[in-house]
Amino acid sequence: MIHRNSQTLQIPDWQNTLSQSIKDPERLFAALELPMEYLPRAMQAQQLFPLRASLPFVSRMQKGDINDPLLRQILPIDHETRHVVGFQPDPVGDQAAEILPGLIHKYHGRVLLTLTGACGIHCRYCFRRQFDYQHSNPTRQNWQQVLRYIAAEKSIHEVILSGGDPLSLSDSRLQALVAGLEQIPHIRFLRIHTRLPIVVPERITPELLTWLRNLSLKVFMVLHINHAQEIDAEVEHAIDQLKNNHIDLLNQSVLLRKVNDNAASLIDLSLRLGEIGIIPYYLHLLDKVTGASHFDVPQQQGIAIIEIMRRHLPGYLIPRLVAEVTGEPYKRPIY
Ligand SMILES: *Cc1c(COP(=O)(O)O)cnc(C)c1O
Ligand code: SF4
Repeated sequence: MIHRNSQTLQIPDWQNTLSQSIKDPERLFAALELPMEYLPRAMQAQQLFPLRASLPFVSRMQKGDINDPLLRQILPIDHETRHVVGFQPDPVGDQAAEILPGLIHKYHGRVLLTLTGACGIHCRYCFRRQFDYQHSNPTRQNWQQVLRYIAAEKSIHEVILSGGDPLSLSDSRLQALVAGLEQIPHIRFLRIHTRLPIVVPERITPELLTWLRNLSLKVFMVLHINHAQEIDAEVEHAIDQLKNNHIDLLNQSVLLRKVNDNAASLIDLSLRLGEIGIIPYYLHLLDKVTGASHFDVPQQQGIAIIEIMRRHLPGYLIPRLVAEVTGEPYKRPIY
Protein backbone atom coordinates (compact mmCIF):
# COMPACT_ATOMS: atom_id res chain seq x y z
CA MET A 1 0.00 0.00 0.00
CA ILE A 2 1.26 3.44 -0.93
CA HIS A 3 1.15 6.06 1.80
CA ARG A 4 0.48 9.52 0.57
CA ASN A 5 0.59 12.49 2.84
CA SER A 6 -2.44 14.74 2.91
CA GLN A 7 -0.62 17.41 0.95
CA THR A 8 -0.20 15.33 -2.17
CA LEU A 9 -3.85 14.44 -1.94
CA GLN A 10 -5.00 18.02 -1.71
CA ILE A 11 -2.71 20.00 -3.95
CA PRO A 12 -2.76 19.09 -7.64
CA ASP A 13 0.64 18.87 -9.34
CA TRP A 14 -0.08 21.94 -11.42
CA GLN A 15 -0.58 24.03 -8.31
CA ASN A 16 2.74 22.83 -6.98
CA THR A 17 4.37 23.75 -10.27
CA LEU A 18 2.79 27.19 -10.09
CA SER A 19 4.02 27.73 -6.56
CA GLN A 20 7.53 26.65 -7.51
CA SER A 21 7.76 29.35 -10.18
CA ILE A 22 10.87 31.49 -10.26
CA LYS A 23 10.24 34.87 -8.65
CA ASP A 24 13.75 35.72 -7.62
CA PRO A 25 16.03 37.15 -10.34
CA GLU A 26 19.09 35.53 -8.75
CA ARG A 27 17.49 32.12 -9.08
CA LEU A 28 16.67 32.79 -12.73
CA PHE A 29 20.23 33.90 -13.47
CA ALA A 30 21.65 30.82 -11.77
CA ALA A 31 19.26 28.42 -13.51
CA LEU A 32 20.03 29.83 -16.94
CA GLU A 33 23.70 30.71 -16.37
CA LEU A 34 23.10 34.28 -17.47
CA PRO A 35 25.75 37.00 -17.46
CA MET A 36 25.70 38.52 -13.96
CA GLU A 37 26.15 42.08 -15.24
CA TYR A 38 22.40 42.14 -16.04
CA LEU A 39 21.33 41.09 -12.55
CA PRO A 40 21.28 44.47 -10.73
CA ARG A 41 19.10 45.95 -13.49
CA ALA A 42 16.74 43.00 -13.30
CA MET A 43 16.46 43.46 -9.54
CA GLN A 44 15.63 47.11 -10.02
CA ALA A 45 13.12 46.70 -12.87
CA GLN A 46 11.20 43.95 -11.14
CA GLN A 47 10.22 46.36 -8.39
CA LEU A 48 7.77 47.85 -10.89
CA PHE A 49 6.29 44.48 -11.88
CA PRO A 50 7.56 41.34 -10.16
CA LEU A 51 9.40 38.63 -12.02
CA ARG A 52 7.50 35.41 -12.43
CA ALA A 53 8.36 32.44 -14.64
CA SER A 54 7.16 28.85 -14.45
CA LEU A 55 9.80 26.13 -14.51
CA PRO A 56 8.41 24.39 -17.63
CA PHE A 57 8.63 27.70 -19.53
CA VAL A 58 12.17 28.38 -18.29
CA SER A 59 13.23 24.86 -19.31
CA ARG A 60 12.59 25.79 -22.96
CA MET A 61 15.10 28.65 -22.88
CA GLN A 62 18.68 28.43 -24.13
CA LYS A 63 21.15 28.55 -21.27
CA GLY A 64 23.49 31.52 -21.32
CA ASP A 65 21.53 33.39 -24.00
CA ILE A 66 20.39 36.78 -22.75
CA ASN A 67 18.58 37.27 -26.09
CA ASP A 68 16.55 34.09 -25.91
CA PRO A 69 13.06 34.92 -27.26
CA LEU A 70 11.32 33.26 -24.30
CA LEU A 71 13.60 34.82 -21.73
CA ARG A 72 13.04 38.25 -23.19
CA GLN A 73 9.31 37.93 -22.50
CA ILE A 74 9.84 37.53 -18.75
CA LEU A 75 13.21 39.15 -17.93
CA PRO A 76 12.98 42.54 -16.17
CA ILE A 77 15.39 44.97 -17.85
CA ASP A 78 16.39 48.57 -17.28
CA HIS A 79 14.40 49.90 -20.27
CA GLU A 80 11.27 49.32 -18.23
CA THR A 81 12.15 52.11 -15.84
CA ARG A 82 12.33 54.71 -18.64
CA HIS A 83 9.54 57.14 -19.20
CA VAL A 84 8.61 57.18 -22.89
CA VAL A 85 6.08 59.60 -24.38
CA GLY A 86 2.96 57.83 -25.64
CA PHE A 87 3.18 54.97 -23.17
CA GLN A 88 0.64 55.03 -20.35
CA PRO A 89 -0.72 52.95 -17.47
CA ASP A 90 -4.05 51.94 -19.09
CA PRO A 91 -3.45 52.11 -22.85
CA VAL A 92 -6.64 50.32 -23.90
CA GLY A 93 -9.15 52.09 -21.65
CA ASP A 94 -10.08 49.02 -19.61
CA GLN A 95 -10.62 50.98 -16.44
CA ALA A 96 -13.29 53.11 -18.14
CA ALA A 97 -15.02 50.06 -19.66
CA GLU A 98 -15.23 48.28 -16.33
CA ILE A 99 -18.91 48.12 -15.49
CA LEU A 100 -18.53 46.19 -12.23
CA PRO A 101 -15.38 44.96 -10.48
CA GLY A 102 -14.04 42.28 -12.82
CA LEU A 103 -16.51 42.86 -15.68
CA ILE A 104 -15.41 44.72 -18.82
CA HIS A 105 -18.06 45.33 -21.44
CA LYS A 106 -16.42 47.02 -24.39
CA TYR A 107 -17.72 45.22 -27.45
CA HIS A 108 -21.23 44.31 -28.51
CA GLY A 109 -22.25 40.73 -27.77
CA ARG A 110 -19.42 39.76 -25.47
CA VAL A 111 -18.15 40.60 -22.01
CA LEU A 112 -14.76 39.95 -20.53
CA LEU A 113 -14.32 38.88 -16.92
CA THR A 114 -10.99 39.48 -15.18
CA LEU A 115 -11.33 36.65 -12.69
CA THR A 116 -7.93 36.80 -11.05
CA GLY A 117 -4.65 38.69 -11.14
CA ALA A 118 -2.62 35.50 -11.00
CA CYS A 119 -0.70 34.20 -14.03
CA GLY A 120 1.76 31.39 -14.66
CA ILE A 121 4.32 33.88 -15.92
CA HIS A 122 4.57 37.64 -15.88
CA CYS A 123 4.93 38.92 -19.43
CA ARG A 124 6.88 42.15 -19.29
CA TYR A 125 4.80 43.68 -22.10
CA CYS A 126 1.45 42.83 -20.48
CA PHE A 127 -0.98 45.72 -20.86
CA ARG A 128 -2.37 44.78 -17.46
CA ARG A 129 1.01 45.17 -15.76
CA GLN A 130 -0.32 48.38 -14.24
CA PHE A 131 -3.84 47.14 -13.64
CA ASP A 132 -5.21 47.15 -10.12
CA TYR A 133 -6.20 43.52 -9.84
CA GLN A 134 -6.79 43.66 -6.11
CA HIS A 135 -9.91 45.70 -6.75
CA SER A 136 -10.84 44.29 -10.13
CA ASN A 137 -11.75 40.70 -9.48
CA PRO A 138 -15.32 39.74 -8.82
CA THR A 139 -15.50 38.80 -5.17
CA ARG A 140 -17.92 36.20 -3.97
CA GLN A 141 -20.32 38.97 -3.00
CA ASN A 142 -20.41 40.84 -6.27
CA TRP A 143 -20.38 37.75 -8.48
CA GLN A 144 -24.17 37.76 -8.12
CA GLN A 145 -24.15 41.32 -9.43
CA VAL A 146 -22.03 40.23 -12.42
CA LEU A 147 -24.48 37.44 -13.18
CA ARG A 148 -27.42 39.81 -12.90
CA TYR A 149 -25.81 42.24 -15.33
CA ILE A 150 -25.15 39.51 -17.90
CA ALA A 151 -28.63 38.04 -17.44
CA ALA A 152 -30.26 41.43 -17.98
CA GLU A 153 -28.19 42.27 -21.08
CA LYS A 154 -29.73 39.98 -23.68
CA SER A 155 -27.35 41.10 -26.44
CA ILE A 156 -24.48 39.25 -24.73
CA HIS A 157 -23.97 35.78 -26.17
CA GLU A 158 -20.37 35.17 -25.19
CA VAL A 159 -18.49 35.39 -21.91
CA ILE A 160 -14.72 35.59 -21.99
CA LEU A 161 -12.84 34.36 -18.95
CA SER A 162 -9.64 36.33 -18.67
CA GLY A 163 -7.44 37.82 -16.00
CA GLY A 164 -4.67 37.36 -15.18
CA ASP A 165 -5.05 33.77 -16.17
CA PRO A 166 -8.46 32.22 -15.46
CA LEU A 167 -6.99 28.71 -15.38
CA SER A 168 -4.92 29.67 -12.35
CA LEU A 169 -8.18 29.36 -10.42
CA SER A 170 -9.03 25.97 -8.94
CA ASP A 171 -11.43 23.67 -10.77
CA SER A 172 -14.03 24.09 -8.04
CA ARG A 173 -13.94 27.89 -8.28
CA LEU A 174 -14.20 27.77 -12.09
CA GLN A 175 -17.05 25.30 -11.90
CA ALA A 176 -18.98 27.47 -9.47
CA LEU A 177 -18.49 30.60 -11.61
CA VAL A 178 -19.41 29.00 -14.91
CA ALA A 179 -22.40 27.11 -13.48
CA GLY A 180 -24.02 30.51 -12.96
CA LEU A 181 -23.36 31.49 -16.58
CA GLU A 182 -24.82 28.26 -17.91
CA GLN A 183 -28.16 29.21 -16.34
CA ILE A 184 -28.45 32.27 -18.57
CA PRO A 185 -30.25 31.26 -21.78
CA HIS A 186 -28.72 33.87 -24.11
CA ILE A 187 -25.12 32.85 -23.26
CA ARG A 188 -23.97 30.43 -25.96
CA PHE A 189 -20.18 30.67 -25.98
CA LEU A 190 -17.59 30.45 -23.28
CA ARG A 191 -14.18 31.69 -24.28
CA ILE A 192 -11.12 31.08 -22.12
CA HIS A 193 -8.12 33.34 -22.66
CA THR A 194 -5.21 31.49 -21.12
CA ARG A 195 -1.50 30.93 -21.25
CA LEU A 196 -1.44 28.15 -18.67
CA PRO A 197 -1.56 25.22 -21.15
CA ILE A 198 1.74 26.65 -22.43
CA VAL A 199 3.49 27.71 -19.25
CA VAL A 200 2.13 24.95 -16.95
CA PRO A 201 0.87 22.19 -19.31
CA GLU A 202 0.00 19.95 -16.34
CA ARG A 203 -2.93 22.29 -15.75
CA ILE A 204 -4.80 20.31 -18.41
CA THR A 205 -5.90 17.56 -16.04
CA PRO A 206 -8.46 14.81 -16.70
CA GLU A 207 -10.79 16.57 -14.23
CA LEU A 208 -10.58 19.87 -16.09
CA LEU A 209 -11.17 18.12 -19.42
CA THR A 210 -14.22 16.27 -18.14
CA TRP A 211 -15.70 19.50 -16.88
CA LEU A 212 -15.02 21.36 -20.15
CA ARG A 213 -16.40 18.54 -22.26
CA ASN A 214 -19.67 18.46 -20.35
CA LEU A 215 -20.43 22.17 -20.39
CA SER A 216 -23.61 23.18 -22.18
CA LEU A 217 -21.77 26.18 -23.71
CA LYS A 218 -19.61 26.00 -26.82
CA VAL A 219 -16.04 26.40 -25.55
CA PHE A 220 -13.26 28.18 -27.40
CA MET A 221 -9.85 28.40 -25.85
CA VAL A 222 -7.62 31.24 -26.99
CA LEU A 223 -3.98 30.55 -26.20
CA HIS A 224 -1.14 33.02 -26.16
CA ILE A 225 2.01 31.78 -27.86
CA ASN A 226 4.55 34.18 -29.34
CA HIS A 227 7.29 31.88 -30.54
CA ALA A 228 7.55 28.28 -31.81
CA GLN A 229 10.15 27.52 -29.14
CA GLU A 230 7.36 27.73 -26.54
CA ILE A 231 5.84 24.52 -27.90
CA ASP A 232 7.58 21.41 -26.60
CA ALA A 233 6.38 17.81 -26.26
CA GLU A 234 4.62 18.54 -22.97
CA VAL A 235 2.66 21.43 -24.50
CA GLU A 236 1.84 19.31 -27.53
CA HIS A 237 0.43 16.65 -25.22
CA ALA A 238 -1.77 19.17 -23.39
CA ILE A 239 -3.02 20.51 -26.73
CA ASP A 240 -3.80 16.97 -27.92
CA GLN A 241 -5.87 16.38 -24.80
CA LEU A 242 -7.86 19.57 -25.40
CA LYS A 243 -8.45 18.64 -29.03
CA ASN A 244 -9.56 15.14 -28.03
CA ASN A 245 -12.17 16.75 -25.83
CA HIS A 246 -13.60 18.92 -28.60
CA ILE A 247 -12.19 22.23 -27.42
CA ASP A 248 -11.52 24.48 -30.40
CA LEU A 249 -8.20 26.25 -30.10
CA LEU A 250 -7.11 29.65 -31.36
CA ASN A 251 -3.91 31.54 -30.73
CA GLN A 252 -3.09 35.16 -30.22
CA SER A 253 0.41 36.55 -30.31
CA VAL A 254 1.81 39.96 -29.61
CA LEU A 255 4.28 41.37 -32.11
CA LEU A 256 7.34 41.94 -29.93
CA ARG A 257 10.68 43.46 -30.78
CA LYS A 258 13.51 40.92 -30.55
CA VAL A 259 11.06 38.12 -29.77
CA ASN A 260 9.13 37.49 -32.98
CA ASP A 261 9.52 40.65 -35.09
CA ASN A 262 10.46 38.90 -38.32
CA ALA A 263 8.58 36.87 -40.92
CA ALA A 264 10.74 33.76 -40.48
CA SER A 265 9.89 33.27 -36.84
CA LEU A 266 6.18 34.01 -37.31
CA ILE A 267 5.98 31.64 -40.30
CA ASP A 268 7.67 29.01 -38.16
CA LEU A 269 5.15 29.67 -35.37
CA SER A 270 2.15 29.43 -37.72
CA LEU A 271 3.39 26.12 -39.12
CA ARG A 272 3.88 24.70 -35.62
CA LEU A 273 0.42 25.91 -34.59
CA GLY A 274 -1.18 24.41 -37.69
CA GLU A 275 0.57 21.11 -37.13
CA ILE A 276 -0.89 20.73 -33.65
CA GLY A 277 -4.33 22.01 -34.62
CA ILE A 278 -4.34 25.60 -33.36
CA ILE A 279 -5.62 28.34 -35.66
CA PRO A 280 -3.71 31.65 -35.55
CA TYR A 281 -6.27 34.32 -34.60
CA TYR A 282 -4.74 37.69 -33.82
CA LEU A 283 -1.30 39.20 -34.07
CA HIS A 284 -1.56 42.22 -31.79
CA LEU A 285 0.42 45.37 -32.15
CA LEU A 286 1.80 46.21 -28.73
CA ASP A 287 -0.52 48.02 -26.34
CA LYS A 288 1.51 51.04 -25.34
CA VAL A 289 1.70 50.36 -21.63
CA THR A 290 4.20 52.14 -19.40
CA GLY A 291 7.38 50.07 -19.10
CA ALA A 292 7.03 48.12 -22.37
CA SER A 293 8.38 50.59 -24.95
CA HIS A 294 11.37 48.38 -25.74
CA PHE A 295 8.99 45.80 -27.25
CA ASP A 296 7.38 48.20 -29.70
CA VAL A 297 7.40 47.27 -33.40
CA PRO A 298 6.25 49.90 -35.92
CA GLN A 299 2.94 49.20 -37.64
CA GLN A 300 4.59 49.33 -41.08
CA GLN A 301 6.95 46.54 -40.08
CA GLY A 302 3.99 44.45 -38.90
CA ILE A 303 2.30 44.93 -42.26
CA ALA A 304 5.48 43.97 -44.11
CA ILE A 305 5.78 40.80 -42.04
CA ILE A 306 2.17 39.75 -42.75
CA GLU A 307 2.76 40.45 -46.44
CA ILE A 308 5.65 37.97 -46.45
CA MET A 309 3.61 35.44 -44.45
CA ARG A 310 0.86 35.60 -47.09
CA ARG A 311 3.38 34.62 -49.73
CA HIS A 312 4.43 31.55 -47.77
CA LEU A 313 1.40 30.19 -45.96
CA PRO A 314 -2.19 29.09 -46.55
CA GLY A 315 -4.79 31.66 -45.57
CA TYR A 316 -5.84 29.77 -42.46
CA LEU A 317 -2.37 30.15 -40.96
CA ILE A 318 -2.28 33.94 -41.29
CA PRO A 319 -3.23 35.81 -38.10
CA ARG A 320 -5.05 39.13 -38.40
CA LEU A 321 -2.81 42.03 -37.51
CA VAL A 322 -4.87 44.15 -35.10
CA ALA A 323 -4.50 47.10 -32.76
CA GLU A 324 -6.67 47.98 -29.84
CA VAL A 325 -7.72 51.61 -29.97
CA THR A 326 -9.55 53.04 -26.96
CA GLY A 327 -13.20 53.76 -27.74
CA GLU A 328 -13.42 51.75 -30.98
CA PRO A 329 -16.14 49.08 -31.22
CA TYR A 330 -13.76 46.25 -32.16
CA LYS A 331 -10.07 45.54 -32.40
CA ARG A 332 -8.90 47.56 -35.39
CA PRO A 333 -7.78 45.39 -38.30
CA ILE A 334 -4.47 46.75 -39.56
CA TYR A 335 -3.78 44.19 -42.26
C1 LIG B 1 -10.19 41.67 -26.97
C2 LIG B 1 -11.40 41.84 -26.16
C3 LIG B 1 -12.56 41.11 -26.44
C4 LIG B 1 -12.63 40.08 -27.54
O1 LIG B 1 -12.54 40.62 -28.80
P1 LIG B 1 -12.69 39.64 -30.05
O2 LIG B 1 -12.44 40.50 -31.23
O3 LIG B 1 -14.07 39.08 -29.99
O4 LIG B 1 -11.67 38.57 -29.87
C5 LIG B 1 -13.67 41.34 -25.67
N1 LIG B 1 -13.68 42.24 -24.67
C6 LIG B 1 -12.58 42.96 -24.38
C7 LIG B 1 -12.64 43.94 -23.27
C8 LIG B 1 -11.41 42.78 -25.10
O5 LIG B 1 -10.33 43.49 -24.79
S1 SF4 C 1 -0.23 35.61 -19.11
FE1 SF4 C 1 -1.51 37.18 -20.08
S2 SF4 C 1 -2.40 38.38 -18.40
FE2 SF4 C 1 -0.68 37.18 -17.56
S3 SF4 C 1 1.09 38.57 -17.67
FE3 SF4 C 1 1.09 37.35 -19.55
S4 SF4 C 1 -0.04 38.60 -21.05
FE4 SF4 C 1 -0.51 39.40 -18.99
